[in-house]
Amino acid sequence: MNNDKVNILGVNVDMLTIKEAAERIYSFLGGDKCRTVFTPNSEIIMMGYRDDEFRDILNSASVLAADGIGVVYASRILKKPLKERCAGFDIAVSLLEKLNGSGYGLFLFGGKPGVAEKAREELLKDYPDLKISGLRNGYFDESDEGDIVKQINESGADIVFVCLGAPKQEKWIYRHRDELKVKAALGIGGSLDVFAKNVERAPEFFCKAGLEWFYRLVKEPSRFKRMTVLPVFGMTVIFKGKRYKKTADR
Ligand code: UDP
Repeated sequence: MNNDKVNILGVNVDMLTIKEAAERIYSFLGGDKCRTVFTPNSEIIMMGYRDDEFRDILNSASVLAADGIGVVYASRILKKPLKERCAGFDIAVSLLEKLNGSGYGLFLFGGKPGVAEKAREELLKDYPDLKISGLRNGYFDESDEGDIVKQINESGADIVFVCLGAPKQEKWIYRHRDELKVKAALGIGGSLDVFAKNVERAPEFFCKAGLEWFYRLVKEPSRFKRMTVLPVFGMTVIFKGKRYKKTADR
């Protein structure tokens, strides 16, 4: 039985704290290949439940952390409670503290044109000894992908934040993991917008109360359609979750 993962509808989520996830990712930087880090929320786990190929992509990650209170509740329903919610943004912050002054180079990839530049400017205010090896916006044609990989490799970066939203970022990282020379590639959604201070993170009260989703819904009502998957996720975990868990524990 694997005690360090919880199988949620076929997706094997690591039972880590934010700090443990950041430490593990940092330890990859001395390694010999590109390790991948994904942080699925309930919506992404449902995508994996409905799409075998995407579920295999998620399960191929070296770190699969639970972003979203729905995933934490699901782990409790399955009687294998996650220690805490491990949002991609929080892992990134914990990691930045380690990267600052370490000499390891970070590449920022994603967001609308100008967002990565603004994120770099803001990050350097908080982490003046952070080495930012390069950056690129997240809007491209398939034919540009080779050049993007080349740009990341030629920057000499050790780690890349890939912020294209899900499932685009997970698929992009998976597709290019063998060509990338970085030692860690993290798919962390809208984090660059938050680092750039274009989008505000929910106040601590909402995060602690497990209500960040509600705050984001009020701020960005266009997310409503995406959120209708949450009750479906909850019901699927209640009625089908245990069957998956048993398969994983055998
Ligand atoms: N994005 C991108 N390329 C695309 C589509 C989206 O770089 O082709 C960026 C978008 O600008 C935003 C992020 O990906 O910065 C997605 O943010 P969202 O909050 O939707 O992601 P989540 O964290 O919810 O997965």
